[in-house]
Amino acid sequence: MGECIFCKIVDGSIPAQRVYEDANMIAFKDINPKADTHILAIPRKHIDRLDAVIETDKALVADIMSTLPAVAKTQGLTDFRVIINNGAEAGQEVFHLHIHVLGGGKLPGF
Ligand code: AMP
Ligand code: ZN
Repeated sequence: MGECIFCKIVDGSIPAQRVYEDANMIAFKDINPKADTHILAIPRKHIDRLDAVIETDKALVADIMSTLPAVAKTQGLTDFRVIINNGAEAGQEVFHLHIHVLGGGKLPGF
């Protein structure tokens, strides 16, 4: 996935403000935040989008999801919103699976 910008963030060839990392994932600040706190959590493994998750990825995705409270906590957040855009019509612009973690202040209703 040579052209994937999030793979380049994983391998360190593009800088990012990392807030959390472990064997499965990294989390970093969104470059264009849509809330006071806006973090992106991504698997180190390249997966295009949520509907490209296959059976052998399920434990990985479950691990990432269950780590999000700890990711939010690095930003002092206990209350936060999680969004995944799956596909261009849903607003996905970067085709490496990522989970938006938004918070800080009261978020607008959804
Ligand atoms: P999506 O529209 O769901 O694909 O979200 C992609 C997100 O990635 C957007 O919120 C962008 O602001 C963010 N983004 C794109 N490039 C970078 C980057 N180099 N570092 C951090 N965030 C980025
Ligand atoms: Zn990638």
